[in-house]
Amino acid sequence: MGKLLFLNACFTDDSRTKVLADAVLKKWDGEIEEVILNDGSIKALTKEQLDKRMQLQESGDFSDDMFKYAKQFVDADVVVIAAPYWDMSFPAALKNYIEQMNVSGITFDMNGEGVITTKCKADRMVYITTAGTNNADFTYGMDYMKSLARDFFGIKKFNTFKAEGLDVEGADVDAIISETLAKIEKFSFVTKTVNEGEEDYIVESKELTKMYGNYAANNKVSLHVRKGSIYGLIGRNGAGKSTFMRLLLGMTPINEGEISVFGKTGNEMAKVRNRIGFIIENPTFYNYMSAYQNLKYRADLIGLKNPDAAIKEALQKVGLLDKMKNKVKGFSLGQKQLLGIANAILGNPELLVLDEPTNGLDPIKIVEIRNMLLDMNANGTTILISSHILGEMGKLCSCYGFILDGKLIREVTEEEVESEALDVEEFFVEMAKGGQDA
Ligand code: ATP
Repeated sequence: MGKLLFLNACFTDDSRTKVLADAVLKKWDGEIEEVILNDGSIKALTKEQLDKRMQLQESGDFSDDMFKYAKQFVDADVVVIAAPYWDMSFPAALKNYIEQMNVSGITFDMNGEGVITTKCKADRMVYITTAGTNNADFTYGMDYMKSLARDFFGIKKFNTFKAEGLDVEGADVDAIISETLAKIEKFSFVTKTVNEGEEDYIVESKELTKMYGNYAANNKVSLHVRKGSIYGLIGRNGAGKSTFMRLLLGMTPINEGEISVFGKTGNEMAKVRNRIGFIIENPTFYNYMSAYQNLKYRADLIGLKNPDAAIKEALQKVGLLDKMKNKVKGFSLGQKQLLGIANAILGNPELLVLDEPTNGLDPIKIVEIRNMLLDMNANGTTILISSHILGEMGKLCSCYGFILDGKLIREVTEEEVESEALDVEEFFVEMAKGGQDA
């Protein structure tokens, strides 16, 4: 399983945070390297200490522990961080430290080797913490850790385990801890690997064909979306991406071939429709109904058990909770799009089908929605997404399907894209050129 780097900022070995951390670490089969952070080394890095470290770096004396630590961070396969929520100095000091060490950017020099890396090797960060209730500091700390993981190191999978409400007077501490331990029990570091021939596909099409007159908008498309993946469907305007999604959702009839979703095909597909959230092209709503009422309509349609909580959760995730009573007719283009996303994620579906979901969103919202999708995926949601913003797709997707003039010309994993030393945009441009030459 490789190496896990455990950044331990728990204050004692029997602290509540440490109990949770131990439960997570038990799940790891490989090597564990522990770095103790609560001895004042990182937490209390003063300007003087940072200056000293910078001098050490300049003088070429790399014996300092902190340099070792910086290298470990980049070398680990998984990073687990445990810190009590009120230790707010931790995320800030960690970021400060990493910046000072010049790991960001990301270039840093170790033992004169001139190690240059653009990406942390780890693909998952797990953050374990005890938390207050609606504690602004905690949210800040968690967001900080997330942005560190995702924006700094390009780590896509970010899991949090927080024992929430411990500082509330009269809190049942044991119950809160056991609840969190129960969540950890379900967690696995391993995304299920599948042997060839036993693929676990949520969506699979075989020679799927859709004709509009004489034109094949989908031409013998054989596409595979693996459980737990984020699959990016990429193609030029009119290539057939929305058509594929419509066929998947049963919105338009198939001419030839087959598509299965959760193993169901044909009329049977209707049975699994409630497990799919989607946004196809521009979402449409009842303009004279409020955001809440529009979502309530879908909640009833799919038979959600606790619609009120689910609607508020979805609106909160996209940042529209304060507008829940407003009529949709007063919404801006971007707000309508966000409502469309809220509609898609309502009730945390197992599969999300998103056709250009970030259309019309501002740059901050694009990042927020990306992080929300990564969170949902880390918690088990499989995602099929199309977008023309390929930089964005690169930050999200674990595999891609390239579609050209109705034909799926290639399916690749992100590792395959990277192994050709290209980013997804360059990869697509190369392939589109090849398609035109052919
Ligand atoms: P974009 O990136 O522009 O959204 P797309 O890849 O989603 O494009 P589709 O919407 O799937 O493309 O369209 C594929 C082709 O099928 C296009 O040539 C389009 O004109 C055609 N098409 C789609 N829907 C219909 C329809 N209802 N009737 C006739 N032709 C259609």
